[in-house]
Amino acid sequence: MKIIMASSESLPFSKTGGLSDVVHSLSEELAKDPQNEVSIFTPLYKTIRRKEFKLKLFSSFDVQMGQNSFAVKVYLSNIKKVNYYLIENEGFFGRDELYGYDDDGERFALFCNAILKCMQINKMECDIMHLHDWQVGMIPCILKEKREFCGVFGPCKTVFTIHNPLFKGYFRADGLSYLYGLDEKLFYNGMVAFDGMVSTFKTALVYSDKITTVSPTHANELLTRESNFNIEGIMNQRKNDFVGILNGMDVREWDPKKDALIDYNFGVNDFKEGKEKNKIAFVKEHNLDEDKPIFSVVSRLTSQKGLDQIIIMANEIVNRGGIVAILGSGEKWAEEYFKNFARDHYKNAFVFIGYDNVLAHKVYASSDFMLMPSLFEPCGLTQIISQRYGTLPIVRKVGGLADTVLGFNPDIKNEKEANGIVFNDIDRNAALWSIDVAFNIYENSKIKDKIIRNAMKLDRSWKVSASKYLELYEEALKK
Ligand code: ADP
Repeated sequence: MKIIMASSESLPFSKTGGLSDVVHSLSEELAKDPQNEVSIFTPLYKTIRRKEFKLKLFSSFDVQMGQNSFAVKVYLSNIKKVNYYLIENEGFFGRDELYGYDDDGERFALFCNAILKCMQINKMECDIMHLHDWQVGMIPCILKEKREFCGVFGPCKTVFTIHNPLFKGYFRADGLSYLYGLDEKLFYNGMVAFDGMVSTFKTALVYSDKITTVSPTHANELLTRESNFNIEGIMNQRKNDFVGILNGMDVREWDPKKDALIDYNFGVNDFKEGKEKNKIAFVKEHNLDEDKPIFSVVSRLTSQKGLDQIIIMANEIVNRGGIVAILGSGEKWAEEYFKNFARDHYKNAFVFIGYDNVLAHKVYASSDFMLMPSLFEPCGLTQIISQRYGTLPIVRKVGGLADTVLGFNPDIKNEKEANGIVFNDIDRNAALWSIDVAFNIYENSKIKDKIIRNAMKLDRSWKVSASKYLELYEEALKK
């Protein structure tokens, strides 16, 4: 099967969150089967260290948007049987950050137009176009509405995966013609309209042949009004074409036995000594107290991630004699809060504001617990990685967190099955309860070791999920 992915980020080139890991590792898994040819289109950002990759110029052309013409070059890199096509345009992608600019709508419109033009002029055939999140949400619409593309790439059925339903990709109705060369009637007849604007996200939900999200529980949540994303109407209309497929993880990149980025390697048989050695190295390096439980956060610091709960938990942890380690960046007020927190508790708190992959690996290896009290979580990768590194996730029962963590319940003593700590409510008591359970587990090494072993033994490879995607692709091809 010829599969073409389009994503605003993908490892090994760019990453701000789980989307990047998923596109990359799902593609590698699919490409293991010689019957599949897998390609990924992604922007060539300034932050990508070009010299590390063998980039070959594949194609160059101009993209017309409204009155303006934009020069685009496409570079190709083949890594582990996956073809990465990197779209270069200095003005739009030669910037310090991946997102957060006023013209993000134009930037990703150029990205979509460049993908289709590249496919067109290079006669790239495709069975399935697998599109990820709002940045590429207009592609299914363009493929169906623009005559010049109808049928030229082969079957080219579209699958759209919702990684984060918060981001709707809004732009004004007149953008339909000047950004995408589409007729504005699509706005007035309601096909692409959402909240009085065009939404690339909603457009994808209308036009894609199949829709997925990244966990079964999140799929169910999106069908309900309580999820608060205001898409339950359309999701219910598309229910027969909508499924939740749980993310796997890259088990080679995240393997405590072989991880070259951590101080000491360890596996399920020697995690006690291994984690302890990593922990000692970590607390020494950052001048923290020894012999205390470490509770960590490795995350974007945005309200989605339950910042209010994290603050309640962090204060409780230091009051009860634990250590808090935070690695993340995001909302400025939260960054300031945690910087001050580290200053106030300098022996018991470590805070790094920014993105640092090496540090992330070390935090996973040396922590006892990982805090994830998310308000919503389509899947979440951090808890899955934590489990593999013997760091017990403390999560709220929502989305993919509910599908991946089985909580220890001190009342029924279910340490035989448990692999983390789970609480339900978004309130202070629930957060404090989870920290209390964590301290109790920490002090009872028999229970703790059992739960850690359960967590480390979980099979999170992509094999099962990738085969579910393949089944879905087959169904799309029958449409
Ligand atoms: P989301 O995609 O919503 O950001 P996920 O839990 O799905 O959340 O994925 C987060 C991924 O990003 C994980 O691989 C995590 O290790 C990584 N990550 C998050 N913040 C940082 C950071 N500041 N530095 C390094 N890695 C980070």
